[in-house]
Amino acid sequence: MEYRLLGRTGLRLSAIGFGAAPLGGVYHPTDFQQASRAVGAAIDAGINYFDVAPYYGLTLAESRLGEALAGRRKEIILSSKCCRFGFDDFDFSAGRVASSLEESLARLRTDYLDLLIAHDIEFGDLRQVVEETLPAMQQARAAGKVRFLGVSGYPLRVLAHVARQFPLDFLLSYCHDNLLNTRLQTELLPLAQERGLGLINASPLHMGVLTEEGPPEWHPAPAELFEAGRQVVAICRRHGVAPATVALRFALDEPGLSSTLVGMTSVAELETNLRALDYRLPPNLLAEIQHVIAPVRDLEWPSGRPEHEHLPSLPNS
Ligand code: NAD
Repeated sequence: MEYRLLGRTGLRLSAIGFGAAPLGGVYHPTDFQQASRAVGAAIDAGINYFDVAPYYGLTLAESRLGEALAGRRKEIILSSKCCRFGFDDFDFSAGRVASSLEESLARLRTDYLDLLIAHDIEFGDLRQVVEETLPAMQQARAAGKVRFLGVSGYPLRVLAHVARQFPLDFLLSYCHDNLLNTRLQTELLPLAQERGLGLINASPLHMGVLTEEGPPEWHPAPAELFEAGRQVVAICRRHGVAPATVALRFALDEPGLSSTLVGMTSVAELETNLRALDYRLPPNLLAEIQHVIAPVRDLEWPSGRPEHEHLPSLPNS
């Protein structure tokens, strides 16, 4: 396994991280025994970074991850989140930060989180995030319940806006550094490097678009992106390599990313994903992929409060 520093935290995260959202059954019903074996096998293979949230499966993913990690908590770096509790259920208040952290710790069967993340901040009032949510997270750190603080979300300009106003340790974005979209490296990486922030890259399979099974019903991307995903999967099949191996290698090839979080539910998926570590992307395969995705490259969808669309766009966007 390869390990990378998370900004200035001193933490070394495995370059492939374990995303636990699918443990909550958000993609398809997940067999707990299978997923639990994947968690153990991932730690055995050197994956030391695990991410989860109360929102995933409406607390189910946290409970399951807590159970699967029994006896192994100290071997890993664990992140969970606060402020998002349902599709449309957000609470960025200081009181809820404190109470939800206690609930997460209980479900995860631990007394501290390595990383606490304000979840999908584009759905909040950013003034409240800066003046109330993040200070409450700092208090949790002062109390020894959390080691490092970050924010997550989809629109990169929202993450940048908050990073400029508060001394964060890291940022997490999803569907922004993979075969279909590379805005994380072109738009956010310069700011992260300038400020010494860690950058966590989630959803290298574009939340299921780059899999044989395809995206889930709830996927917010426009249909043309799904079609491009199907073509990428077909190209990989023709080249005899799993799309997940190709997609993860592509993300790993960007050294500025601290870790790439991929959601996994079985040892078979884990093994395919680990293969990316020793895989080299053949230039002709990459050229074919880049050709079919050209019309949808970097295509995004709206997420969060419309008022944030007026924030200044980032250089290179
Ligand atoms: P992903 O792009 O990692 O795709 C996950 C899907 O791909 C699941 O259905 C999984 O079963 C499947 N899959 C994984 N490996 C496979 C393989 N080898 N072959 C076939 N299918 C495979 O999307 P994700 O899980 O949403 O993102 C990764 C993690 O990042 C999440 O679990 C979560 O921890 C984190 N995340 C955070 C945010 C946020 O904070 N706002 C948003 C998205 C994701």
